[in-house]
Amino acid sequence: MLVRIIWQVLGTWIVTTCYLYFFPSSTLWPLVALGSCWLLTLLTHTADARQIEHLLSWLRQPDAPLPKRLAPQWMELASHVLRQRRDHRDLLAQSDKRLADFLAALQASPNGVVLIDADERIEWFNQTAAEHFGFDARRDAQQHFTNLVRDPVVAAYFATRDFSHSVLLAARSSTRSPAQRISIQLHMYGQGRSLLLSRDVTAIEQADAMRRDFVANVSHEIRTPLTVLGGFVETLQTLKLSGAEQTRYLDLMSQQAVRMQSLVDDLLTLSKLEGSPRPSGHEWLKVDALLRSCADEGRALSQMVWSSTQQIHVDVDSDCDIAGSDTELHSALFNLVGNAVRYTPADKSIGVSWSLNAHGQGVLAVTDQGMGIAPEHLPRLTERFYRVDRSRSRETGGTGLGLAIVKHIAQRHDAELQIESTPGKGSTFRLVFGAHRVRAAVNRLAALVDQD
Ligand code: ADP
Repeated sequence: MLVRIIWQVLGTWIVTTCYLYFFPSSTLWPLVALGSCWLLTLLTHTADARQIEHLLSWLRQPDAPLPKRLAPQWMELASHVLRQRRDHRDLLAQSDKRLADFLAALQASPNGVVLIDADERIEWFNQTAAEHFGFDARRDAQQHFTNLVRDPVVAAYFATRDFSHSVLLAARSSTRSPAQRISIQLHMYGQGRSLLLSRDVTAIEQADAMRRDFVANVSHEIRTPLTVLGGFVETLQTLKLSGAEQTRYLDLMSQQAVRMQSLVDDLLTLSKLEGSPRPSGHEWLKVDALLRSCADEGRALSQMVWSSTQQIHVDVDSDCDIAGSDTELHSALFNLVGNAVRYTPADKSIGVSWSLNAHGQGVLAVTDQGMGIAPEHLPRLTERFYRVDRSRSRETGGTGLGLAIVKHIAQRHDAELQIESTPGKGSTFRLVFGAHRVRAAVNRLAALVDQD
């Protein structure tokens, strides 16, 4: 500004001096001085206006390059603006990236997340929430949450505005079986905004139900022999019984005690299986020995159950080893042989066999010619306490846990339990072991040589 004033004063002085030089006697020089000053001011203003026009048209186009014909002071101003524009753009890009990262993190959450504004309209939701509530990203943004999720539980939850606890409801888009159940809870933040979290609790609810059923079943199983025992004790205490009667009652009491003992043993086996790490694949046991020892135990059981020994054939197609726990595999196979013995009449035979199938998998099979099982029971046979023939199971000391134990052991050995049965003809229970768990006897020798 000061420079401009100096230039204007200097310009006016030069023009007036020149005028007085050419017209020394003229008295109009003040007018000339005033006129030249005005003209110079006009000229500078016009120049400034042009510069401002350049600058404005540059500012209007955010990506245009800096205009070249700018006076230094305008150029400096433009450079400042340019730098601030760049800083602003960088800042915007950074906050965009941060927002994108934040939304990606919410998107990756295993829980459903819905952001709701102060008017209870949906601002954003992740994919999990879309699945839980059946939302569509394009259609449902900015809709009222309670208009879309028309569940009385949700309506009551929003109406009471007590968000200190979660509520349970059925997932909307669920076609799964069992029906998917979700838990939702609202968390307030900012000015009236809220964050709604939804969580799939189907598995937890199922586990709870299973635990309740399990406790009820165990109590029931234990209560029955306990009641019988209590009754006998009372009879022995109150009635004068002959020696023979006493022996009979004591035998019956002993049977009930054995029944409770078997139940506790099976429960402990299951709990050990659930609580211990999976057996390693480094311990090898001979299939032939395993089959023969279980068959021997089966014969002994047959003697106890039927007072005669059923025919139990052992057929080992190829001499192999299985990688796994000796105790567990023995328990699994004995449970299958024991069932075959208990559910097959005394005059029928039982087969215990081992073979390799076309995929190199080891197949351990127990085949009987017993009563068989109707197809509708097959899917539920491995459930705890599921029995087809309740009285036969109890009479022969069954706990209803045998096949549950077998299935558990099979899973721990990467094996599959397959059941085939024809009512009236008999059943075959197979344990199919993955090829990596099976070793041919030839390799057993090679492994022994390697160890040496
Ligand atoms: P349990 O101790 O009652 O035998 P399991 O879990 O071993 O319990 O078997 C479940 C049910 O499956 C049994 O109660 C029985 O009804 C049926 N079952 C098991 N094995 C056989 C079989 N070989 N033949 C016929 N029914 C069987």
